[in-house]
Amino acid sequence: MYYALRGIDLGRVSKGVKCSVTGCDKEAVRSLASEKVSSAGLKVGETRRTYLCRDHYKEYKRETKKERKLEKWRHMG
Ligand SMILES: [Zn+2]
Repeated sequence: MYYALRGIDLGRVSKGVKCSVTGCDKEAVRSLASEKVSSAGLKVGETRRTYLCRDHYKEYKRETKKERKLEKWRHMG
């Protein structure tokens, strides 16, 4: 059950859906909650779900990793 819910969060995107990042019109490969994506610093519209192309998904992953690192440093200090 839990895995099913997680599956929705990192859901596959049906063919033809475009990336939600402003100025990008590549084909989306991942769908995520918009708040997660915008907290990673990506510019997305005011929708509940955000679709990301491969490039922006990589960027999103990179940014969230960075944030996690910063958090660790904060706890250490
Ligand atoms: Zn994109």
